Amino acid sequence: METLESQNDGPEKGSSTVEICEPQQSNEKTPTKEGPPRNKTSMENGIKMEKLESQNDESEKETSEPRSSIKRELNDDSYDGNPSKEVKWEPKNWRQIIENIRQMRRENIAPVDTMGCDQFTSDGETVIPDRLKRYHCLVSLILSSQTRDQANHECMMRLKKHGLTPESMVSTDDKVLEKLIYPISFYRNKTKFIKQMSQILIDQYDGDIPNNIKELLKLPGVGKKMAHLCMRSAWNVVTGIGVDTHVHRISNWLQLIPEETKQPEATRKALEKWLPFELWDEFNHLLVGFGQTICTQNFPRCNDCLNAPICPARGKRPIRKTPMKKAIKPEDLEF
Ligand code: SF4
Repeated sequence: METLESQNDGPEKGSSTVEICEPQQSNEKTPTKEGPPRNKTSMENGIKMEKLESQNDESEKETSEPRSSIKRELNDDSYDGNPSKEVKWEPKNWRQIIENIRQMRRENIAPVDTMGCDQFTSDGETVIPDRLKRYHCLVSLILSSQTRDQANHECMMRLKKHGLTPESMVSTDDKVLEKLIYPISFYRNKTKFIKQMSQILIDQYDGDIPNNIKELLKLPGVGKKMAHLCMRSAWNVVTGIGVDTHVHRISNWLQLIPEETKQPEATRKALEKWLPFELWDEFNHLLVGFGQTICTQNFPRCNDCLNAPICPARGKRPIRKTPMKKAIKPEDLEF
């Protein structure tokens, strides 16, 4: 099935003076226990947590050597094959890293906090039936691929004004829909996907969206990242970690996975092997906002980052020299 998840985000706009910084030696910030404003824990939100059997499939092991040798207690000839001796790998300082990101996220509102796809399931429009909110969520996820949250939000507003139901999408002329979706990236493909998907939902799901990963993945334009995010946002069920370009990049930079990965899907599998299940729901939102505001792909704000003293990527790339402003302008953000 063709999906939209295989390409990277475009370059960041609005960059300023940069420098190469040396690593710092200590981190005196005290971690706090609360997450960012939007992000209560899954348990607090009554979110159902579901693991997929395939997520720990041994056949999906990476081939290169891990960064750490903690995977097995015995890694020599004396290993007797007893799985009870296997030791779970976990990243160095990961609790401190996550607490630091929580603190930075509380202090810096990110586009994902106000314009993310899940906003269309909790935007206060209680008059909209739940099934329609779920449909809006899925359409928003398809539109969001390779697209800034701001542009996605504006596009959703235009579509909702036009009438955003499976029936209206199917009956809207392709050219009209393309104009409504433009300037979203890949607007022609997305127009095609949304129309095809809407017809399938009408024919097979009575206009609702599927409530499981397997069937979501059969829809045009829906890949694994999108399916997991959709299950969480539309159905309040956690089935996996949503790994987009920010989560993928930051997990590698901070060595939150045992070995470097090239694709977000490999990162998801590596993260799910060690990250406590209770944190899966929070992880995507934490790292996406962190990647939009501080740990940006181009010129990260390492001087403003609480993780700088313990970050393996610190000093390896040009950083943004200008100090963090209280209010970040949209052009300074990375989506
Ligand atoms: S690369 Fe820079 S901004 Fe990103 S986590 Fe490391 S120190 Fe922080």
